[in-house]
Amino acid sequence: MDFETRFRAQLDALRDEGNYRIFADLERQVGQFPKVRNHGSGPDEVTVWCSNDYLGMGQHPDVIGAMVDVTRASGTGAGGTRNISGTAHQHVALEEELADLHGKEDALVFSSGYVSNWAALSTLGSRLPGAVIFSDALNHASMIEGMRHSRARREIWTHNDPEDLDRRLSAYGPEVPKIVAFESVYSMDGDIAPIEEICDVADAHGAMTYIDEVHAVGMYGPRGGGVAEELGLMDRITLIEGTLGKAYGCFGGYITGSAALCDFVRSFASGFIFTTAIPPAVAAAARVAVKHLKSSEIERMRQRRQVARLRRLLDAHGIPHMDNPSHIIPVMIGDPVKCRFIADVLMQEHGIYVQPINYPTVPKGTERLRFTPGPLHTDADIDHLVAALNGLWKQCALARAVA
Ligand SMILES: *Cc1c(COP(=O)(O)O)cnc(C)c1O
Repeated sequence: MDFETRFRAQLDALRDEGNYRIFADLERQVGQFPKVRNHGSGPDEVTVWCSNDYLGMGQHPDVIGAMVDVTRASGTGAGGTRNISGTAHQHVALEEELADLHGKEDALVFSSGYVSNWAALSTLGSRLPGAVIFSDALNHASMIEGMRHSRARREIWTHNDPEDLDRRLSAYGPEVPKIVAFESVYSMDGDIAPIEEICDVADAHGAMTYIDEVHAVGMYGPRGGGVAEELGLMDRITLIEGTLGKAYGCFGGYITGSAALCDFVRSFASGFIFTTAIPPAVAAAARVAVKHLKSSEIERMRQRRQVARLRRLLDAHGIPHMDNPSHIIPVMIGDPVKCRFIADVLMQEHGIYVQPINYPTVPKGTERLRFTPGPLHTDADIDHLVAALNGLWKQCALARAVA
């Protein structure tokens, strides 16, 4: 069997569709973020405009300090699964910190946010006989894979539409275990779910609620507990899922909920049980980041300022961007070739790195550049970005937004 030819044929097809992914080869440098060294073609130094290290916590001295200190004190790896010698005191402390963040009885840490969604949803869906999972149409791949793996029945409700959710829930009797799964901030459009309305509908049908706050933890709410915290709704959500790899600048994922719920997932989820625990130093660093953002508002305030500033300048130049209440600014191009071309020119000629977002990640005709300004982008960085976009809008004869 000629496997190589088969691999190449599918890769060629991907290239022909324009969906072949090329990674930027970058080197982050403490103290310089969001400027990074570029090892690929283009300038030696570029400014990152699409990082999920939303608040720059990945280079915070206290977070680095915890990772270095615990590595020196405890070594590198956890040395086992959580059950077989791998539970370090740092994991226990991190889980307490996360339970406190969300006002829940308990928390469980996983290898990543992806794994936490996959493991929690597949366990809930498969271990609650007859369960039906009601999934928002735009849920993340990690949730979709978890639901699929559970083999539970799925109902896909119209994105952010509590009325459609209500109609679908109404089709099932009170004896059916129902799980309503959705996100708070959706990362491609930057829109935010109507959490209260969704909880009202779920309550009326006796459904449990499962929210992915991956793009919100650290950034929303007075202590960084996410949009549900900001709206005072954390106690209405059965399970809150988050990541330690985005605004917290580290690595790993988690769920929080009641003691029984966490114990249930801990005891039955294969994706939790049969894998090495995250390094104790990573757990310690993540805990410091979570703790820091519980009391520090500076990063969130400065992020909001820079987000507002970029939106204002885009508006002033008529550069169309999707209006939303979050920190994510999608600049709409509406054409896959132009989208990639503009991203290439930004990188090669202006030292601006933003990954083009094309189909199938977003629907055809809505191709975009997705900017995530953070507290460490300077006013000059924003001015430079807007000037470059303005020039490209002229060069490519792209439509301007009407004020
Ligand atoms: C990134 C992401 C995840 C996965 O989190 P990781 O920690 O990166 O694995 C889960 N859900 C959503 C919505 C995400 O964007």
